[in-house]
Amino acid sequence: MDDIAKLCMHTMTTKPWPIEIAIDQYHAHGIPGITVWRQALDGRDPGDIGENIRSADLDVVSLCRGGFFTAAKKSDRQKAIADNLRAIDQAAELGAPLIVLVPGAVPGQSLTKSRCQIQAGIEAILPKAIELDIKLGIEALHPMYADNRSAINSLQQANDLCDEIDSPNLGVIIDVYHLWWEPNLKVEIDRCGQAGRIFAFHICDWKTPTLDLLNDRGLMGKGCIDIPKIRSWVEQTGFEGYHEVEIFSHIFWQMDQVEYLKQIQNAYLQYC
Ligand code: ZN
Repeated sequence: MDDIAKLCMHTMTTKPWPIEIAIDQYHAHGIPGITVWRQALDGRDPGDIGENIRSADLDVVSLCRGGFFTAAKKSDRQKAIADNLRAIDQAAELGAPLIVLVPGAVPGQSLTKSRCQIQAGIEAILPKAIELDIKLGIEALHPMYADNRSAINSLQQANDLCDEIDSPNLGVIIDVYHLWWEPNLKVEIDRCGQAGRIFAFHICDWKTPTLDLLNDRGLMGKGCIDIPKIRSWVEQTGFEGYHEVEIFSHIFWQMDQVEYLKQIQNAYLQYC
């Protein structure tokens, strides 16, 4: 990239920083976008945090994350729906136009059953999202998470679910970490792009070897994902949104976070 005009940071990427510090530091480094992780709001008033963010000239790109609609017991599925309804309120208070949904999965429960529960969960919260003008983005996760985090494992499945539910408030998140391997990725990106359903674009890289399934994501350019190619496919559909850096990494969380933020900016300019 030539500049950082479309760079957005996920607060989880700089997890050691409380959200107040993250806001100050992103602003100080000229980063224009922020995606707020829900945990970062613990003990805070989302409206106050939203004001802090706007007064630091940052755009709130999304609230991350809702979802996890699957559970063996009906009462637990109802709790998940109630929690997602709260997330919609929080997004509205924060001023976030979008909630990222991690669909959910249950070890030992069939993926087909989990997908039915995911659809039911989304349909249950959609009316409130429409009422408060909040978009919901389905994030398909890499198949390595099919046991316990997401029964939606490809963009094709996420697109199918969007077709099934068919609402202008429902779309998809394109996360290169989860989708880089998908055989017909360009076709599926074109499909959701033409439908106006690409709500966000997440970047990081896939390290070889990956030492931890959850928290060993790589800095852009340090892995095997062709980020510029996938970005070009996304942008060819007319997507003009942010490029969101979402890196979970025990290694990077141990670093000096200011130094890390500089490395992220350099990697973004060089490899995205
Ligand atoms: Zn993501």
